[in-house]
Amino acid sequence: MENQYNNQQQKRRLSLQRYYQIWEGKNVLLCKGKYMIGASAQPVVYTLMLINVPAFLEEFLVIRSLNDDIFTGILIPYIVFHILGNIFMLRTILTDPGIIRRYNEKYVDSEDLSHIPQQKTQALAKRNPCDITLHNHLMKFKFCRTCHIYRPLRTTHCHECDNCVERFDHHCPWLGVCIGKRNYQHFFLFVFSNTVLVLFSMFISLHRMLSAWKDENPNDFGGFLKKEPYTIISVVYCFMFSLFLAPLFIFHLWLIKNNLTTNEFHKKTWKKMGGINPYKKKNFASNCGAIMCLPIRASFIQLKKIVYPNRASDYEQGFTRTNL
Ligand SMILES: [Zn+2]
Ligand SMILES: [Zn+2]
Repeated sequence: MENQYNNQQQKRRLSLQRYYQIWEGKNVLLCKGKYMIGASAQPVVYTLMLINVPAFLEEFLVIRSLNDDIFTGILIPYIVFHILGNIFMLRTILTDPGIIRRYNEKYVDSEDLSHIPQQKTQALAKRNPCDITLHNHLMKFKFCRTCHIYRPLRTTHCHECDNCVERFDHHCPWLGVCIGKRNYQHFFLFVFSNTVLVLFSMFISLHRMLSAWKDENPNDFGGFLKKEPYTIISVVYCFMFSLFLAPLFIFHLWLIKNNLTTNEFHKKTWKKMGGINPYKKKNFASNCGAIMCLPIRASFIQLKKIVYPNRASDYEQGFTRTNL
């Protein structure tokens, strides 16, 4: 009898699953839940190439052709921003943006809870919005029908990743991930370092182009083009990207100043509610501190954690304790 019980327990232990195995979002999980990226790895590969290929060409073709004094003064800060751009990009992609865990009636976190019949429809039944008052604003906790949870304030369901994300800013098509409460700081620094890198590259290439053209071949621009075609390509490429990156950086600075998210800006959330953003603090420094300097809270998603089948449904189907 005891052997039978032990065998059953062993069987159960072997059949236990970890959270990454029952993951319902569209995010791709790598290395058995150690890393999580967006819904597809494709945008990451493209963005890595768009940043790194021109940056390496700049380092090997343009900066190396400058005279020695300028070369040493420019190469080190250029490489620093190049590395920083990559570090912040990887941190943005690999950090959980603030996903709120779904309610899953089939699993519970604790083995003890798995034996206690629970009202599985409790969360599903409460679909009416809950109201709270924050700084004299009437706010609504909306119910997410996909995640089966009440969304905390400023939380939005991302349809690309199929998850609710806390302080949802936007879904970044360049990185393929959501930008939310936990990775916004990395994202902002990613935009900043790449804006500097692109402007830096543009001015270096422009300087090289003008000095080579005027000093070496003043009457032969075609000859210069043949000799160093990449320099002119770099000027055009960096100019086009700077038109996108510099305004994006300034826009996010403005969002931080006003303690807004991109999502709130597009939806005009606070304008519709009387024009006052209850999260906005007195000045730029305190808004910046609240968004950029606060420690990142622990993730709600513990992908390696063991989950236990919820036995409440077994009880409902007439199972007895000995069937467990
Ligand atoms: Zn949701
Ligand atoms: Zn998303």
